[in-house]
Amino acid sequence: MKSQKKHIATFSFELFPPQSEQGVEKLRLARKQLAQLNPKFFSVTFGAGGSTREHTLETVLDMQSEGYTVAPHISCIGSTQKKIYEILQIYQQAGIQRLVALRGDLPSGMAQAGEFRYASELVTYIREAFGQTFHIEVAAYPEYHPQARSVQADLENFKRKIEAGANSAITQYFYNADAYFHFVDSCESIGLAVPIVPGIMPINKFSQLVRFSDGCGAEIPRWIRKKLEGFGDDVESVHDFGLDVVTAMCERLLKEGAPGLHFYTMNSADLTSKIWGRLGI
Ligand code: FAD
Repeated sequence: MKSQKKHIATFSFELFPPQSEQGVEKLRLARKQLAQLNPKFFSVTFGAGGSTREHTLETVLDMQSEGYTVAPHISCIGSTQKKIYEILQIYQQAGIQRLVALRGDLPSGMAQAGEFRYASELVTYIREAFGQTFHIEVAAYPEYHPQARSVQADLENFKRKIEAGANSAITQYFYNADAYFHFVDSCESIGLAVPIVPGIMPINKFSQLVRFSDGCGAEIPRWIRKKLEGFGDDVESVHDFGLDVVTAMCERLLKEGAPGLHFYTMNSADLTSKIWGRLGI
């Protein structure tokens, strides 16, 4: 963790583009509340399908015009160089300065993989087409990406993304700080010194967390799973316990050198604000 300690801490919030009028209002309220915490930026996720992609663009431009600092996610799977270029040109014209560049996952039923196979190819393309216009974040996986051929292959892929021109990384969420520290040490041992900001998922609903974690390969440690299971429908106890566990992990991450935190807010200010308050950021 030597190299991480020298980076300026970056605190950021992730939002997703709403699909309904009600969702748009919910997001407006959440970002207004979260903006009071003064994050470095808000990121907005990106879906590979057509309409989700439009919603990302709309949300990003809407927020940018309201004066928020926004980092759109952009994923390359199922897309073409032309489409990516068009989106990035709109972002460039709107004054966007930071992107989260990803491969993404193909939605079920979508067969076309597109012109780019991996996020490293997307990063290479963005640097070729847009030079240094954007600060580029990429994804990192302290518990390794579920499709990686091996731990070593995943680490090499991460290195490829950085060498292609990424400036920093945000991790998949995790509940085991040791996995993060080990990952950062492994990166340092192969000469990677970019900031790797931990992604933090507040614990809201147990069933939802299990579904997400099964999909993305994030481990819910057995003791946390057991405790959450035991609370059943008692949402208040789930939240109280989740706040204790996640805040303690964030405290440790920051104390031991993590260069900031990136919160997966799920478009709700409540739990993220509470963790933020307890941390006294
Ligand atoms: P990559 O870095 O390309 O890696 C994907 C897999 O391919 C890995 O297993 C890697 O080891 C392997 N690999 C890479 N290069 C090679 C190679 N040359 N040869 C063989 N194997 C290789 N998804 C969305 O759809 N929208 C979002 O907005 C979004 N935001 C995210 C934000 C963060 C911070 C994170 C951590 C994830 C996000 N995701 C999002 C999920 C992400 O798209 C998935 O995890 C996806 O499966 C991988 O994307 P990636 O950019 O990490 O892919």
